[in-house]
Amino acid sequence: MTFSCKNYEFDTDTCAKLKTECIPGRRGCVLEGKVKLSEELQNRLDKLEEKSEERRSRK
Ligand code: SF4
Repeated sequence: MTFSCKNYEFDTDTCAKLKTECIPGRRGCVLEGKVKLSEELQNRLDKLEEKSEERRSRK
């Protein structure tokens, strides 16, 4: 990826703020709502949302 973020951990490809995989634009990301996401990123975020909804509905 070609971007710079102070929370990005280059060694592990993770987000220090969210303590998980870096997906620019994801919920809680500093870029959330501020950038136009590529189709690939939007698809990854949609899948994440689906997974969290599945987890919530199982509880
Ligand atoms: S998820 Fe967002 S805040 Fe976290 S490292 Fe990636 S771009 Fe930065």
